[in-house]
Amino acid sequence: MASPLIGAVDIGGTKIAVGVVDASGKVLSRTQAPTDPDRYSDGIEMIARMLRETAKISGVELTGIGIGSTGPVDPMRGEFGDVDFLPGWRGQSPVKDLAEIFKVRVALENDGDAAALAEAGWGAGRNRSRLIYVTVGTGIGGGIALDGKLYRGVDGAHPEIGHQVLDPSGPPCSCGFRGCWEALAAGPAMAAWLESHAPAAYPHRQGINAKRICELAQQGDAVALQAIEHEAYYLGLGLANLINLFTPDAIVLSGSVMKSAPLFLDRIRAVIRSGCRFVPAEKTQLTLASLGEDTNLIGAARVWHYRFGQ
Ligand SMILES: [Zn+2]
Repeated sequence: MASPLIGAVDIGGTKIAVGVVDASGKVLSRTQAPTDPDRYSDGIEMIARMLRETAKISGVELTGIGIGSTGPVDPMRGEFGDVDFLPGWRGQSPVKDLAEIFKVRVALENDGDAAALAEAGWGAGRNRSRLIYVTVGTGIGGGIALDGKLYRGVDGAHPEIGHQVLDPSGPPCSCGFRGCWEALAAGPAMAAWLESHAPAAYPHRQGINAKRICELAQQGDAVALQAIEHEAYYLGLGLANLINLFTPDAIVLSGSVMKSAPLFLDRIRAVIRSGCRFVPAEKTQLTLASLGEDTNLIGAARVWHYRFGQ
């Protein structure tokens, strides 16, 4: 096949990004719009419009379309699952609909799996046989790639690494448990911890978020540094569990909180060293995602290559 040019669609909770990605994983053009939570038919029309627009900007004909979507999806049937922020999209098939509109082959995966495929094929995970991709932002998610193949559960299910329980007496989680990794260590959990532990007179409490905490910590703010310490401890515990369970070659770290990874990494490594004694934890490389801001978009394109291109 001549060098495929893939229309990539990254569907997130707040925005939909669309772009054209070449056969080396390079983004040729991109556009984005807010995720419209209402009618699916309007959503799919908007995505089609964005695909035409980016293809026109790059001056290319699309060879195929790859989709990465947050929330549960059925990659085999190409359908959305119970996507809680898009109730009207449940059971709909963007794979079928976009294939009809564009007359090309279309593939869909969970966005964590899509990003894992991108890092495994084009990014920091190249030549790493057992790779776990972890993204820490407003939630914690990821994907597992073994010898370039996605690990899938029963019925194609996507494992939810963010919902491993680290503290059963911890804060409640949307999944029903308490003290999940996500509830303890995603960005909003950092802000919540600071809000409940900062002294009453702490001047930065108003509108605090993970990004601001990291900035304050870099300036030496003592309360923010405590929040970083707490965050790094729970990041370390969750990663230690993944290492004990899977002994991977590499764990690729991504997401908005990991933009400040240097603040956390020493403590994370110390936590891992303190407990992973029965596995060669020092051989698991902790590495930062190398595809940058567009990891999810590039991942969406990689989904097409994974399904049809090999
Ligand atoms: Zn949970």
